[in-house]
Amino acid sequence: MNIHESEKIAGTLQAMGYTECDNEEDADVIVFNTCCIRDNAEKRALGNIGAIKHIKKSKPELILAVVGCMTQQDGAGLNLRQKYPYVDIVLGTNNLAELNNAILRIKNSGKKSVLIDPNERPEVLEGELKYRTSGCNAWLNIMYGCNNFCTYCIVPYVRGRERSRKMQNVLDEFKTLVDQGYKEITLLGQNVNSYGHDLNDGSNFAKLLEEISKIEGKHRVRFMTSHPKDLNRDVIDIIADSKNICNNIHLPIQSGSNKILKLMNRHYTREYYLETIDAIKAKIPNCGITTDLMVGFPYEEEEDFEDTLDIVRKVKYSSAFTFIYSVRKGTKASLMPQVPPEVSKDRIKRLIAEQNKITKELSKGYECKVYEVLCEDNAPKKVGYVCGRTDSGRLVTFEGSSDLIGQFVNVKINKSQSASLFGEIVEE
Ligand code: SAH
Ligand code: SF4
Repeated sequence: MNIHESEKIAGTLQAMGYTECDNEEDADVIVFNTCCIRDNAEKRALGNIGAIKHIKKSKPELILAVVGCMTQQDGAGLNLRQKYPYVDIVLGTNNLAELNNAILRIKNSGKKSVLIDPNERPEVLEGELKYRTSGCNAWLNIMYGCNNFCTYCIVPYVRGRERSRKMQNVLDEFKTLVDQGYKEITLLGQNVNSYGHDLNDGSNFAKLLEEISKIEGKHRVRFMTSHPKDLNRDVIDIIADSKNICNNIHLPIQSGSNKILKLMNRHYTREYYLETIDAIKAKIPNCGITTDLMVGFPYEEEEDFEDTLDIVRKVKYSSAFTFIYSVRKGTKASLMPQVPPEVSKDRIKRLIAEQNKITKELSKGYECKVYEVLCEDNAPKKVGYVCGRTDSGRLVTFEGSSDLIGQFVNVKINKSQSASLFGEIVEE
C-alpha cells in the first residue's frame, strides 16, 4: 500500500518536471512517506528525517516533505514542526493531493505548509498520476481506509473509514495496466473482502474478481489483504475457477487463541478460521497460504501462544510475517496490561523457528517439479541469474538473462533452501 502511494507521490513529482536520482545529496526534493503501524517503523522514519538535516543545512533550497500515516496521528504535526523545523512540508493522509501546490508555495514564496485535515474526505480520488517502480508488477488500489478497529491497530485512525473505488474505475485501470504490458496486478485494500459495501450499488469483491477474471490476456492477479471474517466461499470459488487469479491467499490470523482474538476484536474464532482454510485447501489445491502473526499481545499467556503455534502447524503456511505487538497510542489495546518484552522476544523466536521448519518442509515438496514462473527481476547478487514467483507466490531463482524479465517460463525446481527455490528453465 505504501509502496504504491510512493509511486503516486513520484508521479506528482514527475509531472512537475522532477526526475529520479540515486542519492539524497543530488535531490532537489525529498519526500518521506511514513508508516506508523509499529513503533520501529515510526522510529526509522524519524531517524531518516533526522539524518537528512545536514544535507538541508548545506543546501537550504532542498525541499523536504513528510507525508503518510505518521503525520496523521494526534499531535504529530506539531511534534514534527518543533523537533524537525527544517522540514518544509507536512501533509496528512487526506492532504496528499496538495503536494504539488505545497512545493510550488515553498519554491515561489518560501512559505512552509503543514496541512493535516482531521476530517476524512468521503470522495475517492481518481486519475492520480503514477510513476510505477515495480517492473512488470503493478499495484492497484481498489479501496482505502478500514472499518475494523482491531484493538492493536492504528490504521483506522490514520487512514479513515472504508472507501471503495467504483468498480468501473477499477476495471478501467486494470485494463489499462494489461494494455501497458504489466504481467502481475495486485489489488490493494486493508480488507479487500469488504470491497464495495460502502458503494450501495451491489458491488462486492466476488463480483469484482469475476469481472477481472474475464479480462483477456496472459497476466496474473493477486490481492491483499483478506480479513478472515469476510473471506467468503464465492471468492474462493472464483479463485479456483479463474486461470489468471493466483492460487495464493494472504489470510492474517494474528493469534491462534480465541481469548486473544476476542481481545483483538477480530470477529472470528480459530475454529472458523480453520474451516475457511479447509475450504480453501479443498477448492484450490496447492494454494500458497500466507499470514500475519503477532506475539505478546496484552494478556497473552503461554497457552495462548501454544494455540498460535498449533495453528501454524495445522495450516502449514508457505510463509508468515511475524511481529511483536507494539503499543500504538490511542488504540484500545494500549490501555491493556502489557506482556514483558523478554517474554515476547522469546515467543517470537520460537514462532519463527516453527514457521521456518514448515517453510523448509513445504519447499522440499517443490523439488523436481515444474512450475510456471513469471520472471520478475535479476537475482540479487547473482550475475547471470534471474528470479520470479510461482503462481502460489514462491520465489524461484534460475539461470537466465534479463531479457526474460516480464516473461512466463517453465522452471524445474532442482533445489530448495528454506524459503528459496532454485531451478532451471525447461521446455514444456
Ligand atoms: N489490514 C490488514 C493488515 C494491515 S497491518 C489485516 O487486517 O490483515 C499489517 C500487519 O501488521 C497486521 O496484520 C498485524 O499483524 C501487524 N500489526 C498491526 N498493528 C500492529 C501493532 N500494533 N503491533 C504489531 N503488529 C501490528
Ligand atoms: Fe488494522 Fe484490523 Fe483494519 Fe487490518 S483490519 S488495517 S489490522 S484495523
